[in-house]
Formats: sequence, structure tokens, C-alpha cells
Amino acid sequence: MDEFDCAVIGAGVVGLAVARALAQKGREVIVLEAEGAIGTGTSSRNSEVIHAGIYYPEGSLKARLCVEGKQLLYDYATKRGLPHRRCGKLIVATAPAQVAQLEAIAAKARANGVDDLVLLSREEARAMEPNLECLAALHSPSTGIVDSHALMLSLQGDLEDAGGVVALKSAVVRAECADDAIVLLAQDGTALHCNSVVNAAGLAAPALARRFEGLPASAVPSAHFAKGSYFTLAGRAPFSHLIYPVPEAAGLGVHLTLDLGGQAKFGPDVQWVDSPDDLVVDPKRGDGFYAEVRKYWPALSDGALIPGYAGIRPKISGPGEPARDFLVEGPATHGVPGLVNLFGIESPGLTSSLAIGRHVAALLP
Ligand SMILES: Cc1cc2nc3c(=O)[nH]c(=O)nc-3n(C[C@H](O)[C@H](O)[C@H](O)COP(=O)(O)OP(=O)(O)OC[C@H]3O[C@@H](n4cnc5c(N)ncnc54)[C@H](O)[C@@H]3O)c2cc1C
Repeated sequence: MDEFDCAVIGAGVVGLAVARALAQKGREVIVLEAEGAIGTGTSSRNSEVIHAGIYYPEGSLKARLCVEGKQLLYDYATKRGLPHRRCGKLIVATAPAQVAQLEAIAAKARANGVDDLVLLSREEARAMEPNLECLAALHSPSTGIVDSHALMLSLQGDLEDAGGVVALKSAVVRAECADDAIVLLAQDGTALHCNSVVNAAGLAAPALARRFEGLPASAVPSAHFAKGSYFTLAGRAPFSHLIYPVPEAAGLGVHLTLDLGGQAKFGPDVQWVDSPDDLVVDPKRGDGFYAEVRKYWPALSDGALIPGYAGIRPKISGPGEPARDFLVEGPATHGVPGLVNLFGIESPGLTSSLAIGRHVAALLP
């Protein structure tokens, strides 16, 4: 049987950040990734936004790790020369009732330590973005965008510099947890004897944890999948900031984000699906985008939206249920020595990745 000190399951941005943090602490680390390349899961199907930390409940892991992770990510991207831009975002009120909501959003942000939001009148917002229609807006100057693939390659490089390795095409199928070790069993029949294991399998994390013998079933939440489809804009982007409506129940509303090449896209919307593999964009969903986008950009022309790509949010709460926090469960919670499970790492997981890495490394001394 092969032996390794620590195994991290999943080479998405979170698994790589955790593996890097553990390796930089001096642990011997292997990352086991089912696919033939790193970062092909949710980490390659998101908006690539560095979130400021505005919306999350005060004291939640999402709030704390987003605010900490944002700063770590800007510092890291600057130091490593990774493509990123602190472009800022506007949250726009397009109906009278939403103007008061902007004040509430600003108060929530302040409670999370985000104190740089500025409330703008319609005229002030339009001075920044002449194509924008709104009644008022909140400007978040610390929101930005990052090249998530460059980030993941850099994390892998740091991991390898610290002696860690990534094993591709190495799907873990189950585990046997005992007090002195965890044995991971791979699809090809290989067994790996480890002192510590981090389950960072994203959408598959709950299903995989259910196959960890010795882990109480009560420690594994049920998985729900909320698909988000994007539509890209044909032609030049009419805005230089990211533009968000006031948020909805399960997502942030049909917003406009930009990539580092200046391409604009709208989305993601929210569609509850049964399978984590349901990634095809239904062109008909674009019909609903036009009315939403025209609330803040009336000049959007018919036929300008082209089906893009979709990502699936790894939810641990279902339709109509209150949103849940990131669930980072270590030995103190579930009683299995050396095991950390990461569940429900949806947005702002990319922003928070470096902070999640630190947090998990601290749970495995
Ligand atoms: C539509 C959408 C938009 C988003 N936008 C943003 C945003 O703008 N900003 C932000 O901060 N966050 C955003 N997020 C959230 C962010 O993308 C995720 O939090 C982050 O990518 C999760 O990374 P991960 O490493 O946990 O998961 P993943 O990237 O899914 O990685 C999990 C990995 O585990 C592997 N795996 C699965 N099962 C096994 C197994 N049995 N054995 C071995 N390997 C396995 C998979 O192949 C995969 O590579 C968004 C998410 C979605 C869905």
C-alpha cells in the first residue's frame, strides 16, 4: 500500500489552495484529481469575480473568508503578476423599493468589514456609466476580476515548489477511516494510506463523503445543484464596471461581468437541476435575460445575447430553503481524526480560496 502524509481530493481552486497551504506548512501532500487536468470543474465555470464580501451574514464563514481571501488574492495576484483588475462594481436599484435595499446592503457590508461602499444618485452613477439606467446605485471599488486558470496554475506551482504533487486521472471511490489512519481507495484499485485527508471534491464532496466508512452519516449534508447559465454579449461591452441588480433569493440576479479581455457576459441565472453534469446551456433561457438586463441597460438590442457556458453551484440547501454557509468540518465536528470535509463551497469560493486554504491547514496541525 502507498503511503502519504496528506491527501487532498480535488484539484479545483479550493483543493489546490488547501494543498499549497499544507505543503507550505511542511506537510507531505498529494492532490488526487479525477480528471486529466486541474481546474475543469466549477473552478472553470464561474464569473471570475473577486467579491468584496458584501452580502453574507455577519460572522459567517462566507463573510470572514471572503473578506480575508479578497485581500490575500489581490496581494498574491499582484506579487505573482497574475492577470487581474480591480474594476469595481455597481449594484443598481431599478425600482423605488430597491433604493432602501441598497442602504440595507451597505449596512450589511459594513458589518462584514467592507466599509468602502459609496451610495450614488442616478446622476452620479450615470456619470460613471453613461449607458446605465437606474434610480440609485452602490459603488463597490474593491470588487474585481481575476484569471482563475492563471491562479490555479500558480497555486499548483507553489505546491510543487514545496514538494507536493498532483496526480491526475486519480478518482477516489471510497475511504476507510480509522483512529490511526485513513485509507483512500482509487478507481484503479490503488490504496493510499494517509494521516490526513481533505475532501475538496466540489459538487461530488457529499456523495464521496457518504462512501467514507467510519464517518457518521449525520456529518454529511444533502447535495443540491443550482445551475447558472451565462449569455455572452455580441459586440463591445457598454460598461467598464461590473453591473449587478439588487440580489435575489438563490443568486445575485442576472448581472453583467467582464473578463480580462473586455468581453461582457450576463448571468448566471438560477435553475435547480438533478444532475451535477447538466451543463448544456438551453438557448431558450436567454429569452428571460432580455427583460432583466433591460431594467438597467435599456439599449440592449434583440439578438445580442449568445449562449455561453454554465456552472453548477454546489448547494447544501434546496429550493426555498435558507442559504447555508460554507461547511468546513474537521475532526472536532465529526470525530474522525485527520479528516476535513468541505461542503457547499459555492460563491464566493474562488475569492475565498487562499483564506480557505489557511483555515483548513489550521484544522490539521
Ligand atoms: C455559476 C457560478 C459562478 C460563480 N462565480 C464566482 C465568482 O465570480 N467569484 C467567486 O469567488 N466564486 C464564484 N463561484 C464559486 C466558485 O467557482 C467555487 O466556489 C469554486 O470554484 C469551488 O472550487 P472547488 O475546488 O471547491 O471545486 P471544483 O472546482 O468543482 O473542484 C473539485 C474537483 O474535484 C474533482 N473530483 C470530484 N470528485 C472526485 C473524486 N472522487 N476523486 C478525485 N477528484 C474528484 C473534480 O474533478 C474537480 O476538479 C461561482 C460558482 C458558480 C457555479
